[in-house]
Amino acid sequence: MSTAKQWSLWQAPLRVIALVLCIDTLAATYGIWALAREHITGTDLLRLGLLALLSVAYLEVSRQVEHRRRLFQVDGSSHMDMVAVWAFPGALVLPRGLAALLVVFLYAHLWTRSWKSVDGIRLHRITYTGAVAILICAAVATVAAGTDVTGEFGSSAAVVIATLLLAAVTYRVVNAALISSVIFLSRGASRPSNLFGSVSDNVVEFATLGLGAMSALALVRVPWFAVMILPAVFLLQYHALLRDLVQAATMDAKTELLNAAAWRQLAQRELGRAARQQTPTAVLVIDMDRFKHINDTHGHLAGDTVLRSVADVLADELRGYDAVGRFGGEEFVALLPGADGEAALAVAERLRRRVEATEVIVEGRNAPERQRVHVTASVGVAATLSAGTTDLDYVLRAADDALYAAKHGGRNTVRVAPARVAA
Ligand code: GH3
Ligand code: MG
Ligand code: MG
Repeated sequence: MSTAKQWSLWQAPLRVIALVLCIDTLAATYGIWALAREHITGTDLLRLGLLALLSVAYLEVSRQVEHRRRLFQVDGSSHMDMVAVWAFPGALVLPRGLAALLVVFLYAHLWTRSWKSVDGIRLHRITYTGAVAILICAAVATVAAGTDVTGEFGSSAAVVIATLLLAAVTYRVVNAALISSVIFLSRGASRPSNLFGSVSDNVVEFATLGLGAMSALALVRVPWFAVMILPAVFLLQYHALLRDLVQAATMDAKTELLNAAAWRQLAQRELGRAARQQTPTAVLVIDMDRFKHINDTHGHLAGDTVLRSVADVLADELRGYDAVGRFGGEEFVALLPGADGEAALAVAERLRRRVEATEVIVEGRNAPERQRVHVTASVGVAATLSAGTTDLDYVLRAADDALYAAKHGGRNTVRVAPARVAA
């Protein structure tokens, strides 16, 4: 294991180091303060022991699946894990200090038995994730304070459900805020969808929290019954693995846009639908201008940073129904359902202008100082007429011809294919 001096954290920007140390210190201070001032009963210790035991049993049985899941997980795609199944009930029914202790135990166990062997997951990252979890538990405990969340003393169903919902949302929001801020500070703006994850991420997270709430109920009412949660947690973990595999199969890892195969499939389906409903559809092919020069000047890594920034711009500009993908190299494709030639030209022009206005900060090739890079793109547009062709390759060829014309027209420009793409 690397010593503290060699931690990759120290290579991070100063603002990241400051935030990480701040959160770590805050969590440690809070945990110790809570442990020192609380009265802990035998029942509390029993509940802590049972939650720790269940988490160990779960992790030991599911290590292989969890390991595979982490390998396929795209960085930043999902910041949470099954830890919530144990940490959430801990926050709800344990004294604050014991809940913090449980979190330390959960992450220490995860680190030694699972994450240490996955490349790229560093000790300082797991420490930060654990510290965040301790603060989340503090927030959840505050939200649930004063309410008997397991209905033990006869609280009404409405109060219990409302409190649990609020506690679950608190868990999710505080988690997203603290994890996103470190990602934001180290990598710059991330896409808005990354903040709270995709719909499927949220389904998994709230199902995890739901199981956590059931563990809490079991712990207080019929402790041994908490064992019954385990099969459902395994099922949820398989679902998460499936989700990550689907994402890995359809997403371009460099830009987080759709990959070429997934985009083709989606575009083909959309063309068929448009033909049936007799609506137009347009395809844009977007190629970076003189990209080789960017690589030659600043290096390939800087080129990759530029590609990612352009992808972010495209995704941001083409939200909603417009599918955007990376076709290969420095070439992107977008599908605009319902857009005729004129509308597609307007969108393409808007995209071109936004790319032109984007300034990307990259690390210099030799010099440590950062450099500002500006890029431009040429765009080829092809629109199908109503009841037009369903042959995707035909439309793509037309857009590609238009792109070629745009390159010949001096680059940083848009060209539309002649309206001959009818059936
Ligand atoms: P133009 O399109 O304006 O004619 O010029 P260009 O220099 O962009 O043309 P070309 O298509 O010949 O070259 C594309 C370059 O893009 C070559 C390659 O080095 C670079 N490239 C392709 N994929 C990647 C990538 O994933 N990362 C980086 N950094 N560069 C890439
Ligand atoms: Mg190019
Ligand atoms: Mg190219």
